[in-house]
Amino acid sequence: MQMHAEAQHENKLPLDINYLSQVRAEALKRGISVFEMLEEASGYSPHDLIHELGRLLHIPPVEMKTIHALEPAFDILPFSEATRHECVLFKDKDAYLLVISDPFSSRLRLWAEEHFAIYRTYECADCYGLPNLGLKICAYEAGVAAGALERTLGRPVRVEEVKCCANGDPYDEFHIFVL
Ligand SMILES: [Zn+2]
Repeated sequence: MQMHAEAQHENKLPLDINYLSQVRAEALKRGISVFEMLEEASGYSPHDLIHELGRLLHIPPVEMKTIHALEPAFDILPFSEATRHECVLFKDKDAYLLVISDPFSSRLRLWAEEHFAIYRTYECADCYGLPNLGLKICAYEAGVAAGALERTLGRPVRVEEVKCCANGDPYDEFHIFVL
């Protein structure tokens, strides 16, 4: 058992950007996903592979047990859209978390960048300097931002306030969803 584990360990290839681009080219040629190709070629267990990739690509890995504890936000990203784009938007206490299936899919990353954004206000006119009231009070700012973005983009936009100085946070943070 121990020997087997060691042998597996030795077969592991170092995951670095060069190796990833080779695998990516090969996966493209074979018409399979980069992740599938990596699982096959790298010698890493799915668990270790996810963590290695997360480290390398600076995308925090999310494990199934974490996902099970979260609430899918189908009200913002409907189930049909989520399936189509192979990702799910979750509500994590006060924040939102977009979990993507394939970090190498440039189509998926582009789509995510076009549909989701975060912005912060460090000296919000409404809440800057207020003590912790245990309340997020900047719905007005969220509404103004949604209106301005909708006008510019010509598409419905939802803006959710997830952090607020009046809630003990050091800044205001809004999550933007282009629907
Ligand atoms: Zn605020």
